[in-house]
Parts: sequence; C-alpha cells; structure tokens
Amino acid sequence: MSAVTTAPPQAAVQANDEAPAPDKTGGFDGKRAYAHVAKQVSFGPRPAGSPAIAKTQEYILAELKSYGCTAEVDSFTSDTPAGRLPMKNILVKIPGDKPGVILLGTHYDTKRLENFVGADDGGSSTGVMLELARLLCSQRGRYAVWIAFFDGEEAVRHEWQDPDNCYGSREMAARFAISGDLPKIKAFLLADIVGTRTPHFKRETYSTKALVDLVWGAAKKLGYGDIFIDESSAVEDDHQSFLKRNVPSVDVIDLDNGPGGDVYYWHTPQDTLDKISPKTLAIVGHVFLESVKQLQSK
Ligand SMILES: [Zn+2]
Repeated sequence: MSAVTTAPPQAAVQANDEAPAPDKTGGFDGKRAYAHVAKQVSFGPRPAGSPAIAKTQEYILAELKSYGCTAEVDSFTSDTPAGRLPMKNILVKIPGDKPGVILLGTHYDTKRLENFVGADDGGSSTGVMLELARLLCSQRGRYAVWIAFFDGEEAVRHEWQDPDNCYGSREMAARFAISGDLPKIKAFLLADIVGTRTPHFKRETYSTKALVDLVWGAAKKLGYGDIFIDESSAVEDDHQSFLKRNVPSVDVIDLDNGPGGDVYYWHTPQDTLDKISPKTLAIVGHVFLESVKQLQSK
C-alpha cells in the first residue's frame, strides 16, 4: 500500500478535444480560451452581485489591459426578484477608419443555482471573447469592433420570464440608444454556451437571417458545416435586447439540453470544466474571426 496522497482529479482534456495549432484557426488559441474558462470556474458560482463575479470582472479587466485593449465599465443597478443588485457591463472599443460598429458579445454571469459554476453557460463564450479581444485589439479595421461582456443575463428566478433576464444587454442597448451609438451598429454577433465536446449550432430563428447566413456561410467555408448545421431552433437570449431596437443580430448557441443532448448538463451542477472542449472554443473563435473579416469587407 502506498501512503502517497494523490492529487485531486484535474479536468483532463481528452486527445480529440485538444485545440488545433492557432495557425489552423486564424490565430485563435483554443488553449488560451480554455484557460480563461478554467479561471472563471475557479472563482466558483458567479451570479450577479456575488463576490465571485467581482473577481471575474477584475480578471476580465486585467486580461483586457494586458492585451492593450481599451475597456469601459458601466456600473448600474437592476431591480430583480432578489432585490436591487449591482451589475457591471464591460465594453471593449477597437476603433475603425469609417463610421460603423461590429459588436460582439457574451454574458459572464452564471445562474443562481446551488453549486453551479457555469463552465459552458457563462464561461465558454467569455473565454472565446477574451481570446478574440487579444487578437483584435491590435488590429485596426475599416469599422470599429466593440466587444461586450454582459452582466445579468440569467434569470434570477428559476424560470425565464421577462423582464427577469438580460439585465446587462438591455442596459447596454438602452445606453446606446441614448448616446446615439445604436444606429452605428451594423451587426451584433452573440456567443453563449459554445464549449461543449459535441457541438451542433442550429440557425437561431429570432436572429437576423442575413447575419445567420453570413456566420453559417463562414463556418461552411472553413469546413465546419457538420458543426454549424442547417437545422433551426429558437432561443431567447441577449441578442433580443438589440433585435428589439432593430440592430441586426445573431446568436451562436448550442442549447440541445435534452437527455443525451450536447448540453445535457445545462443549468445543473454538472456544467463543469470537464464538459469543455478547447477544440470547440477554437472552432467558434475561428468562425467569429472569419465573420468579422467578412463584415469588415462590406
Ligand atoms: Zn444559462
């Protein structure tokens, strides 16, 4: 018998989930995106107003600063079924040469559930957006690229019932309406739940069809036609805060949460780091980079 204590089990990445070399995915480093997910998960449950979400905000801002990104923080409060909660939206602004903005987005809060760390729901898309910020903050395109990190996407109650959801995106869209920025936004590309090991992104039906065509076309061109599939599903999410204000928007999300589905662990304590594939993160990052490139050429 050995008395040596074994280390606690790590979320080992399986061989076929390894991220491709970044030069295979447009420079996007799936390993870096995965490390961002691991870091967020290490903070524990991160619902709006929690100490752990404050750590997440500090982490996001420190990462953005290290990439040379310019980031704005909007601190606000929202009246929720759990009372008035402090929230923060973080917005990266990369300038462009002409008027017009390409907006990317993710939510970084996690749902208020016991032992829920949101590796895929909250963590994955935030990891992707941080890695996109690292790549894009050093580039100047024809149009500005803004990257939004939303607080308060999740419903505070267990059920999803308006207006108890999308607090952060609603706030940002309202601010853009007041500032006059809203009509400048040519496209809003949202990512949410993009880290599963068996990804299938269906064409989201509230989304603007021309933008769905652009993103799914980019994915096909890159050889991901078996992942960005031609089935459809309707998902309520942060893109609706912008759709309601007539901003063309698309949501990339895998919400196949039935038994045996891609995200069978959705909104359960099983949404943990071992569910995340660095390869999937890299594919999504690659598709977003290609989509931004196409939007920049329009
Ligand atoms: Zn969720």
